Amino acid sequence: MGRVILRNIGLLLSGDLHRPILEADTVLVVNGKIAAVGWERDIDCEGAGVVVDAKGTCLLPGLIDSHVHPVAGDWTPRQNQIGWIDSYLHGGVTTMVSAGEVHTPGRPKDVVGLKAMAVFAQRAFSAFRPGNVRIHAGAPVIEHGMVEQDFKDLAAAGVTMLGEVGLGSVKDGATAHTMVGWARKYGLQSTIHTGGPSIPGSSLIDKDIVLAADADVIGHINGGHTALPDEQIVELCEKSARAFEIVHNGNERAGLLALRTAGELGKLEQVILGTDSPAGSGVQPLGILRMIAMLASLGEIPAEVAICFATGNTARIRGLEGGLIEAGRAGTFVLCDRAQHSSGKTVLESIERGDLPGIGMVMIDGMVSAGRSRNTPPAGVVPEVVTG
Ligand SMILES: [Zn+2]
Repeated sequence: MGRVILRNIGLLLSGDLHRPILEADTVLVVNGKIAAVGWERDIDCEGAGVVVDAKGTCLLPGLIDSHVHPVAGDWTPRQNQIGWIDSYLHGGVTTMVSAGEVHTPGRPKDVVGLKAMAVFAQRAFSAFRPGNVRIHAGAPVIEHGMVEQDFKDLAAAGVTMLGEVGLGSVKDGATAHTMVGWARKYGLQSTIHTGGPSIPGSSLIDKDIVLAADADVIGHINGGHTALPDEQIVELCEKSARAFEIVHNGNERAGLLALRTAGELGKLEQVILGTDSPAGSGVQPLGILRMIAMLASLGEIPAEVAICFATGNTARIRGLEGGLIEAGRAGTFVLCDRAQHSSGKTVLESIERGDLPGIGMVMIDGMVSAGRSRNTPPAGVVPEVVTG
């Protein structure tokens, strides 16, 4: 894989909430990982096998979708659609985290069956990366009857997280708390469904159950799609130190309330983004970009901060490799520009006006995965690969 240089970067967004814009124009990637970030004159660019001329466009970390429901390969039975993951790549998503493979037809609900399915999904998605997108999957939905040994077994088998608590038979705070605690003891992360039922068969999870369960991620704090009453969302933001996940397939007004409340409480570090798709609302290749534009424009926060919710924040909370532009991180990037004919004069201003950026290139682990996006509006300027 060797050395890859990305030069002539016009705007470098770090993904780090505390320093979202970096003063630099060049990134050096060696063997798939970022080796240096800085000014071109200060970086040893010798011997690069691939040189990308960013042509003054914007570079940011590959986007992370914190809440997807994959099933098998690049097919979703929920909307009977093939190729959805590859389409998300064209929306800048390079990493996905499963919140449970819950749309699997005939999903097993007995303990042996649900454990087997989790191990299967973990293995299958570790070995299969459409467009090189990394899918962290194998997220079992907890059911009554599970004992501590089951969580130990799952961890030993390579499972790293639970699917949404509340989508199975465990819907009470006390049992959820016990099982989330067992999961945490063996290193498994947890997410809880928040709000009204998503589809027939799921049910209401209110703030008391969410707070009692104390899962690592308050999944779709803005509902999926039906949101909790405002005062419950505010109380969750006030009382919880866990992640506040805002999703595309949720209630947008409730998402803005969660964002505003987290901001007032000085808790923006806890905000992460997902699509909660594929789902009843469909497949959204541009879902994460749309969340960024929605929160930046209507939530009135800087675009470079909104981007951190879908990059650095998610990587930190979920212990993922990418998400930040700094040495040692994955060489995984989105290069974008203001969309043609946006009224915003710069890419950040265009996002703050609610427009989506145009993606010109996506790179994963130092390799080009996509050129000009087939799904975003066309970028004003598109980077070019120049062999060194
Ligand atoms: Zn849910």
